[in-house]
Amino acid sequence: MANPIKLSDVCDFLERFAPCELAESWDNVGLLIGDPEQSVQALLTCLTVTPEVVEEAIEGQVDLIVTHHPFPFRPLKRITSADTVGQMLLKLIHHGIAVYSPHTAFDSCAEGINQQLATAIGLSDIKPLVPVELTEASSSIAQVGTGRWGKLSQAPTPLARIAEVAKQATSAEMVKVVGNAIDNIQTVAVGCGSAGELLSVAVEKQVDCLILGETSFHTCLAAKAQNVALVLVGHYASERFAVEKLATILADAFPGGKVWSSHQESDPIHFA
Ligand SMILES: [Zn+2]
Repeated sequence: MANPIKLSDVCDFLERFAPCELAESWDNVGLLIGDPEQSVQALLTCLTVTPEVVEEAIEGQVDLIVTHHPFPFRPLKRITSADTVGQMLLKLIHHGIAVYSPHTAFDSCAEGINQQLATAIGLSDIKPLVPVELTEASSSIAQVGTGRWGKLSQAPTPLARIAEVAKQATSAEMVKVVGNAIDNIQTVAVGCGSAGELLSVAVEKQVDCLILGETSFHTCLAAKAQNVALVLVGHYASERFAVEKLATILADAFPGGKVWSSHQESDPIHFA
């Protein structure tokens, strides 16, 4: 029988993997619910804590949920069954289920979501769009920060092909595109989730195409006006694959535990 895994061991591992100092200032990352001394035998990763995920965790006797999106996210003045957030919090705490969220630290870390996206798209010479300097000298400064950008190995490539590659890389059901299908692309940037704010940096770096989870109509117009193509794969598709990967990383790190990525969560958006 392997040594029992302590919640603090998993937190330490996640902190090394996705240092919390990489998170955006508005974010709410790290251990959000739980006692670091409690033991962890079953661990579930998910994109978002939803009522379905909470039920799955209770049924699976999960001790820790590692959720990409923080839960809770906003400060709370009361926790009651009067609203969905309160209901979920009460159930999690009642069943002793801890919650950890790496969120934007996971977006930006060395092997994080945007690095994985950039690699899957086939970019070379990958760099952060907005590099962040970590306090620890041993960390590779060039490898961490917001978003990623790089060159296509086979440049120039038509935009239609990039859209196809992005769709396959993220298992997206469909993608939305701003720009002309025949436009030739040489440099590509990526930003998972809702990341339209990266457009201005992409323009600065003279990137030809920006692959995002989602963004607003007006950001699409701004991109078109500035000749930056956009490929929108959907918020869920742009991040869910990395949550599945995180489950395998945690399973390797903690072979004594049972680890899986949620089977119950799905993209709330369907295409009619
Ligand atoms: Zn997200």
